[in-house]
Amino acid sequence: MTAAAPTRVLVLNSGSSSLKYQLIDMAGPVPGTDRPARGIVERIGEPRARGGVPDHAAALRAVGDELAAAGHGLDSPDLLAIGHRAVHGGTRFTEPVLVDDGVLAEMEKLVPLAPLHNPANIAGIRVARELRPDLPQVAVFDTAFHATLPEHAWRYALDPAVADPYAIRRYGFHGTSHAYVSRTAARLLGRDPADPADLAGFHVIVLHLGNGASVSAVAGGRCVETSMGMTPLEGLVMGTRSGDLDPAVVFHLAREAGMDTDAIDTLLNKRSGLAGLCGDNDMREIGRRMAEGDERARLAFDVYVHRIRKYVGAYTAVLGRVDAIAFTAGVGENSAAVREASMRGLEAFGVELDSVRNAVRGDAPRVVSAPGSRTAVAVVPTDEELEIATQTRDLVGERGLSLPPP
Ligand code: ADP
Repeated sequence: MTAAAPTRVLVLNSGSSSLKYQLIDMAGPVPGTDRPARGIVERIGEPRARGGVPDHAAALRAVGDELAAAGHGLDSPDLLAIGHRAVHGGTRFTEPVLVDDGVLAEMEKLVPLAPLHNPANIAGIRVARELRPDLPQVAVFDTAFHATLPEHAWRYALDPAVADPYAIRRYGFHGTSHAYVSRTAARLLGRDPADPADLAGFHVIVLHLGNGASVSAVAGGRCVETSMGMTPLEGLVMGTRSGDLDPAVVFHLAREAGMDTDAIDTLLNKRSGLAGLCGDNDMREIGRRMAEGDERARLAFDVYVHRIRKYVGAYTAVLGRVDAIAFTAGVGENSAAVREASMRGLEAFGVELDSVRNAVRGDAPRVVSAPGSRTAVAVVPTDEELEIATQTRDLVGERGLSLPPP
């Protein structure tokens, strides 16, 4: 009897202070239905006394222990591959890639573009390779889906002689989510995302509204515009990031407030957005405060929604015609109020929300626009782990890969 082929992908998302994992079974008619284990190791780099683990190596060992305790140890023969979330692929990585020493060296070169995220990703990959050198490890980049942006969309209006040597351009992020949600929205509306001919002409605006937030315009499965830029700071109002801002604000803060670069960086990335406007970055709390008549919470909500509406208008112009607007991530999936306020008054654009459908909560992808709405409005729960597992499995193939000995 021959052993069954391995069907499981371990998805790792190593951030600077946490390591999230999901073990996803890609067998069966609906891959990803079976997820034998998932979890998170937090407080990487904090003292053990406070429940911390010293580094990413220790974090991954802890993941290995949790998996083993659940009967799915890292040495399991069921493992097909490990899929890693990677944040910044620069212009070098526009597709998922099988990790080898050369890939890691190139990821190191991209650290200046994502100084917080990429080192953590690299650390996670290194440790996973040490633990399972025989297993294919695939890196799936957050920027990759946006590699199809035309140059007039990705280029800032700067002298290329200044911008290009420093890799200054728009890259976009949350690409794994935008890819997954745009395809799922197509399927929800009767298109076959696997068939380029059927998908051609399908235009969707994806609003990923989580703690970070971004919007993308996708035509025929290709991303043509997105709101995040060289870093995730550009674009929509986020939980703690300002999003779009006149760059002269930075000079002004430096000259008039005497703030240095790090202080301004912290202000714009960690103390702005909803948190900066009203002190809370959680839309649930903002909703509660608004219900009590809190003016600051109301203003934060209004600024947040206004920015979304501006982008929807702009991306409608970019696409020319919009078949669907898809809401996703924590706020997009759960806040009927944000969806309602950001879609209100867009009838002239062919958008007609159905307030009853919109108010219904659910876990499944669903249409929340009125039956006659020319542009469908959909809620599509994102699933970045499944997307990483799918891209990983597609790259290594169903039979896996045999790697040369290290
Ligand atoms: P991340 O970007 O960290 O992955 P999520 O996509 O999980 O975040 O989004 C987290 C945010 O979603 C929270 O900060 C909160 O504002 C919002 N959120 C979660 N649940 C709800 C809810 N029921 N109603 C409104 N907002 C919600």
